[in-house]
Amino acid sequence: MPSKVEITFAKSVRPAGGVGVLLQVAGSQPAWVTAADPDGVSARAARTAKFTAKALSTLDILAPTNSPFERLLVLGLGDKAKITRHDWLKAGGVAASKVKGSEKITVYLDAEPLEVGGREAADFALGMALSAYSFDQYKTKKSDDDTTPRDRTLRVTIVTSAVIAAKKAWTDAEAVLDGVVLARNLVNEPPNVLGPVEFAARAKELEALGAEVEILTEREMKKLGMGALLGVGQGSARPPRLAVIEWKGGKPKDKPLAFVGKGVVFDTGGISIKPAGGMEDMKGDMGGAAAVIGLMHVLAARKAKVNAVGILGLVENMPDGNAQRPGDIVTSMSGQTIEIINTDAEGRLVLADALWYCNERFKPKMMINLATLTGAIMVALGSNHAGLFSNSDELSEKLLAAGLRTNEKLWRMPLGREYDKIIDSKFADMKNSGGRYAGAITAAQFLKRFVKETPWAHLDVAGTAMGSPSDEINTSWGSGFGVRLLDDLVREEYEG
Ligand code: MN
Ligand code: ZN
Repeated sequence: MPSKVEITFAKSVRPAGGVGVLLQVAGSQPAWVTAADPDGVSARAARTAKFTAKALSTLDILAPTNSPFERLLVLGLGDKAKITRHDWLKAGGVAASKVKGSEKITVYLDAEPLEVGGREAADFALGMALSAYSFDQYKTKKSDDDTTPRDRTLRVTIVTSAVIAAKKAWTDAEAVLDGVVLARNLVNEPPNVLGPVEFAARAKELEALGAEVEILTEREMKKLGMGALLGVGQGSARPPRLAVIEWKGGKPKDKPLAFVGKGVVFDTGGISIKPAGGMEDMKGDMGGAAAVIGLMHVLAARKAKVNAVGILGLVENMPDGNAQRPGDIVTSMSGQTIEIINTDAEGRLVLADALWYCNERFKPKMMINLATLTGAIMVALGSNHAGLFSNSDELSEKLLAAGLRTNEKLWRMPLGREYDKIIDSKFADMKNSGGRYAGAITAAQFLKRFVKETPWAHLDVAGTAMGSPSDEINTSWGSGFGVRLLDDLVREEYEG
């Protein structure tokens, strides 16, 4: 199972064993904690090593003679004036990666001359827990050089003067942790384990947190006329599902915020089949739906004061005697017809019906969809920004700001009539592929035809939801990208 982290906040502790973590701000005297290092050995070690406490730099010191710890780790925070909120997550992440293999950690958070509040303490703990995540439940034996016990729990005590505030902030931060872990787990799960039905069952589990969850079967979707979504799934032996998760934490009359996720549990490309190399990564083609369920988990777990709805379009795209063909024309729930040019451009077909359904049924205040939609967005932006497409400048500004706060960064891409024309079809109202050029944009134009006037944003997370480079708080293949971003958006812009 993914490693467990147990966080405790305390005003003081009687230190014994394990690793002691001490923080230091650049240009200040080391805030050595006498309890951790009665003889001040670490201060001498830091001087000798010319440790200057640059941001996220560390100094490892083995067992000072009279220290109650086996090891001390000094963690630099850099310039006091430059420390952002996100830096506390990073600092926690670095600390966790440096103490990997230990089971007992004591962190002394108060670093003169810094005032460390409850929120910073909770963020530090969140960074540690996110960094300690690993998905190894399918390995029956650990590697030779890894001496870490398989089912270890990392026990972290964070010593801070702001204990009460820290505990309060941690209840929210822990909800965020659980949501990100849920999203990561789902993306990392192998596709034989996680089909549309199994994914929908995971959504159903959110009822335990007070969310209302409804699962639409193939028959119900047929009745609603979801020909675009159903066409994608018709080559698979595993039937599609549509999960509808509602969290009602706001006033009954408030229109909900809506989040829609592409959940293609495996994408072979269908009859327009993908090359073999790297196809295993297509188990992550449900990264958008994973982020939406993760977000809904967070909102329900921290009892967010908003109404929100999460919709997951869950299908498998397989080649088969019954699979849809290039040249097929399908009718979407909106009534608009779509000529299939490339069966590998399936995500937009799933979203077309999911977005339309969401808009018609819930009349949301705004609608954000997440999808591992195009390889073209990776050509444009790589793995460090997700593509943002929107019909609303206001919603875009809010999202971009949340991206900077959480370091889940977005970059706005254009929409326009010229691009929209590219997906006009000779035989139907539109075609599902406009070719290589502007591939990420024409995909977004396609979605836009299913959202009417509702303020809407499409996040193309193909480069960020899976296989993105490791950073301080994530070493997992499935990153959980989007959960912290959207939780922050909801918190800062729509709650209270
Ligand atoms: Mn595809
Ligand atoms: Zn896909």
